[in-house]
Amino acid sequence: MARIISLVSLAALVLSGCSAIPQASQRTAQRAPLRYSATYQPAVPIRACLSDLGARQAAFTPLPDQYYGAGCSTINTVRLVSLRSDSNDLALTNLGPVTCALADRFAGWARFGVDRAARQVLGSPLVKIETLGSYNCRNVAGTDRRSGHATGNAIDVSGFVLADGQRITVLGDWSAGSPEDRSFLRTIAASACKRFGTVLGPDYNSAHRNHFHLELTGSSFCRT
Ligand SMILES: [Zn+2]
Repeated sequence: MARIISLVSLAALVLSGCSAIPQASQRTAQRAPLRYSATYQPAVPIRACLSDLGARQAAFTPLPDQYYGAGCSTINTVRLVSLRSDSNDLALTNLGPVTCALADRFAGWARFGVDRAARQVLGSPLVKIETLGSYNCRNVAGTDRRSGHATGNAIDVSGFVLADGQRITVLGDWSAGSPEDRSFLRTIAASACKRFGTVLGPDYNSAHRNHFHLELTGSSFCRT
């Protein structure tokens, strides 16, 4: 009897797990290339994350897990095509594989941190986030420790384009921008520190003069 009950429970679990993805797919089907290859089926733990990301109206493609050796891998990653603000799609540039968990956090920051700050501080909605990339098999500069980029768990964000054509960059505007541009960048950096474990920026060191490093970590390290 116990075995029958456990089998029934298992069947229910599997069915409920399967239902998550079509739901996400339906939400994004009109705009998003949410798709799987014929041979690739994501493991159950990532399905909930993909479903969350779909609910945020992100356009993305789940990627197969890959191990590159030497501490570099892309596990549970997606390729983000665009995100969504309150009113419009948000284009992204130069973004490679990112972990689903990071993508989900990034989507929330883009909408509730960056877009809303752009409207309030600069008077125009956000339309594009420019990055310097995500996955990169390398060490933290000057150390023998693998970077968060080596597992697709970090994004380097360099600039922002608004609907009225304004373009604000970390390199050009963190120190030399208008008071509004500088305020905007500091507002979104503070917002990032609340959402990502590790956030590094121009005031941390010269390696970060042109971008914010956003990394999902268990610790809290905010030096922008
Ligand atoms: Zn970085």
